[in-house]
Order: sequence, then structure tokens, then C-alpha cells
Amino acid sequence: MPHAPAHPVPGPLTPTLPYDLGPRAAAATRDVRLQQFVNAATLSKDRARRAAFDASFGVRADDLRDLAARIKQHTLDHLDHYLERFDAAARARGTVVHYAADAAEANRIVVDLARARGCRRCVKSKSMLTEETGLVPALEAAGVRAVETDLGEFILQIDGDAPSHIVTPMIHKDRAAVGRAFQRALGVPYTDEPAALAAIARRHLRDAFRRADLGVSGGNFLIAETGELVLCTNEGNGRLSTSCPPIHVALVGIEKLIPRRADLAVMLKLLARSATAQPLTCYTSIIGGPRAPSEPDGPREVHVVLVDNGRVALLADETRELLRCIRCGACLNACPVYRKIGGHAYGSVYSGPIGAVLTPPLKGLANYPDLPHASSLCGACVEACPVKIDIPRQLIRLRTEMVRRRIAPAGGRFLMRAWAWVLRSPRRYRAALALQRALLRALADDLPPHASPYASRGWIAHALGPLAGWTSQRDLPTPTPLAFRDWWRRRETP
Ligand code: SF4
Repeated sequence: MPHAPAHPVPGPLTPTLPYDLGPRAAAATRDVRLQQFVNAATLSKDRARRAAFDASFGVRADDLRDLAARIKQHTLDHLDHYLERFDAAARARGTVVHYAADAAEANRIVVDLARARGCRRCVKSKSMLTEETGLVPALEAAGVRAVETDLGEFILQIDGDAPSHIVTPMIHKDRAAVGRAFQRALGVPYTDEPAALAAIARRHLRDAFRRADLGVSGGNFLIAETGELVLCTNEGNGRLSTSCPPIHVALVGIEKLIPRRADLAVMLKLLARSATAQPLTCYTSIIGGPRAPSEPDGPREVHVVLVDNGRVALLADETRELLRCIRCGACLNACPVYRKIGGHAYGSVYSGPIGAVLTPPLKGLANYPDLPHASSLCGACVEACPVKIDIPRQLIRLRTEMVRRRIAPAGGRFLMRAWAWVLRSPRRYRAALALQRALLRALADDLPPHASPYASRGWIAHALGPLAGWTSQRDLPTPTPLAFRDWWRRRETP
């Protein structure tokens, strides 16, 4: 079976003007079907999330989000302490704890474990961290056949595709595409009936679970107090992946720690509602170590690989709050930019608003100069975020850094300096607005010749220069000929 290729990250990007659509985003905006799928799915998820919060918590929702943010921030502020506590508690339960400084080391630990125990067949549950490290290709290269068992991930794997949403990885595909992928990769007759497709996947995956000798998972939370690993899933594949094979390895980012079991109650309430509008995910597994001698099933060995891969560096400054993220995907569903371009356009494993702020510090701002601008700064993401990460503030911080490090293109920097000069003088500001208004009205396509100066609005379909990016996707309304302040002055003057 072919495995999913490394995530389609293009080579170094050539910065153009700020706000210019990158090539990936430009391709996505031409794909009308993609936009229809993503728009419909994210809108309905966003609505369902709001309804679930209103119904469950009402006005107390904000207090709960505050509490969750404080729990995560406190853990990050004392991460060394909680890592030590988790390590000691997990070892006392028989779990083997490993540390990986980067993606290569994380993969090497898993591959070495597989080789040392002669493992040939791996079943894997959904994990964004294993996407980040590229674990499946690493296992395949070492001769271990790795099967994704989350239904969405499984479909992407047989289709040679990559996830485009943190929670709903195949949000960009419809059931006809799934039917074609099954027909091509599994040799079954074409069908686009959801129940029939699920039955085909179930038959195929049951066999993989029965034969697997290695199970790999991620982890939603690690409880420092008890040394337990918490997995939240909806399909049951997570439980089969972690309990059928004799060896279970969990790759977990160090930011997934929480102090106590009592804190888990807060996190679970928020995670499920934010991600899928459920009160709880269908399966919440708390894994406390390998099978005890008296237990009839479960893995003989449990390993937890604690992965840094750039996270410690994020702790060092204002980026620390990014590590509060519990990967619920709510900010993606709320974001008007994500809705328009889908996840692949971000060119990174983490897409949407959180991807736009997490990828540049992890992978290099110069490699992703378009991401800090992939936002209108409307603030929908921070309103949706259950741990109150201030994504707009982080975006502005990245834009500032682009200017400071001269990553922002020279043309854009010049325009911003000129604009700052204009803003320092009320006279210059008024003159610039009058000039801008006159130029935009001259470009209007359908402005009536003797239109009322107060009410008339024309539309610009093809703007020039830096505004061309805007009108390539939508028309720009022309301003009224009279500025609001002039209109107000005339109105007030008898
Ligand atoms: S940033 Fe907030 S809303 Fe977005 S995925 Fe992370 S926790 Fe969820």
C-alpha cells in the first residue's frame, strides 16, 4: 500500500509584496469545489460549537476558557517540574519514558524499538505530531508497514494525500473521491454510500489490527500527577491501536502536560465541544502503563516519547502561549481565510490560524513569509479558542519581526514607512485620503456619471498595484466622494 508522501511543502518561497496571495493560496482560490466543501463543513462545525457552548455553559463559558488557559499557562511556566513529575509517575507504572530533541530523534526511537523487537506491522491512530515528524515514511523506510487507522487518515494514506485540517483531516474530499480512492487502492467496486464505504474500511482495518505487532498513537494530554496518557477519539481505532499490538508507543509533544487528573475534567469539557461540538469524545482512554499480570489484554510494553522539536525554544519568549494549544481545530472552523483556501494552502502540517503562528517560529519565518499575512486580523480565532491564545497579537508580532529582520519585501516596507509618515500629520492624512478617494473612484467600473455624492457606490473589478491581489478574488467598493468627517462637518455647519 502506498503511504502518504511527505507533506507537500514547496521549496523556499520568494517573497513578493505583503498581502500578495502565495502560489498555493492562489491555486486554492481557483478551486471552487474545494471552497464549497471547506466552507460548508467549517461553517456547520463553527455553528455547532457555539450552540454546544451556549447550551452547556451559557455565560460561564468564558470563565471555563479562562480556567483552561490558566491551567495550561501554569504548566508551561513550570514545565521542568511537571516533566519530572510525569517521568517519575509514568516509570513507577512501568511505562518507559524517552526524550527526543527533534523529529529525527523521535522517529529513530520508534524505528529502533520496532527493529529491536522484530516488529513488521504497525497500526497507528491519528496524531498531528507524527505528521510533524514524518514517522510513517520513516517506519516504511525501515521495512515496517504502517497503516493509518483513523478513517480520514486511512483515506488520505491510500490516496497519497495529506491532512488539511487538524481534527477533520479529509475535510477537502467528498464521498465520491473516497469511493474512487477505495476502488483504486483496495480493488473494490465503486460506491459512494457512506455506510458501504465505512464497512469496506472496517474490513480492511480489522485485519490490520489483528496482525499488528506495533501500535503507535499520539496523546491529547499527559497527567503529571499520575503518569497517565490520555487519548480522545471518536472511532474506536485509537483503543484498538493501543491495546491490540503487544507494544504501544505514544509520541507526545512536551506541551501536552497538565498537572492533575482534576484538570483533565476542564480540558475534556472544552476539547470535545470545541472540536466536534460533543459533550465528550466517544472514547476517552486513560492509559496507565502496560498490562498487569492479572489483566487479560493490553500491550506488554508502553513507551512514551516526549518530543521537543522546537517547543523549548517557543517557551523562551512571547511565543510561549502558543504551546497552550490543545489542537481542537476551532480556530480553523472560525477563520474566514481558512474557509476560502483550505488547509493545504498553508504549506505546513498545522494549518489555519494556529498554523499561521506556529509554523514560522518552528520552521523558520523566512521559509513561510506569507503565513503572518494569511489573516484579516478579524479576531474570530481568539473568540473560538478554548485556551484563549491571542492569535491576532502573535500574527502582528510576526509581521513586526518580518520588518525588523528585513524578510518583508522592500516594496512593502517602503509603503508602510510612507504610510507611517502620512499618519504623523493630520494635514497629510486628509490629503492622502482625498487623493486615494479620487483615484479609487476613477477606477470604478459602474459608477453613474452624476451619482449622489453621499449614497452612490461603484465597484472596482480590476485594481492596480498592491490592490490587485484584493480584486483578483472580489470586487472592491469605491468610497463615497465625501469623507465621513467632511460630511459630518457640513451637516453640523448651519
Ligand atoms: S489555537 Fe486554540 S482554537 Fe486553535 S486549535 Fe489550538 S486550542 Fe484550538
